[in-house]
Amino acid sequence: MTERTLVLIKPDGVARSLVGDILSRIERKGLTLVALELKTVSDDVARGHYAEHEGKPFYPSLLEFITSGPLVAAVLEGPRAVAAFRQIAGGTDPVEKAVPGTIRGDFALSTQNNLVHGSDSPESAEREIALWFPDLGV
Ligand code: ADP
Ligand code: MG
Repeated sequence: MTERTLVLIKPDGVARSLVGDILSRIERKGLTLVALELKTVSDDVARGHYAEHEGKPFYPSLLEFITSGPLVAAVLEGPRAVAAFRQIAGGTDPVEKAVPGTIRGDFALSTQNNLVHGSDSPESAEREIALWFPDLGV
């Protein structure tokens, strides 16, 4: 059963010129790119994307970060794509949780500026893909 997931290479990944490396890891894992776009997002899209975190202490700073510059939004497809991307991304805290060999484990130090986003379930993926790529048919 194939599945889709929404991935972001956050503004820190673009600013640090890690886009090629991150896309390469995605491709080497065997996941297929079905949409890919560089964009700078509005506050509205950022709020929609991170709605589940509204009210948390890091939420205002997270919105500022994610809207701070261009990011890469992508839709990936493959068997168990949601879990597969989260595996190669590593845990949210890039030091305490993400292990070496993962994107965050290899390249990040900050829990906020942790380079990538990946949907956390097929249901979240469906919602996030509709938000970021409204023209992409399902
Ligand atoms: P993930 O991106 O691993 O799914 P969450 O959904 O919990 O993690 O959080 C969304 C994003 O919010 C994280 O990727 C990170 O950028 C930021 N974030 C989460 N927890 C913290 C925190 N304790 N301090 C600062 N930023 C955080
Ligand atoms: Mg999450």
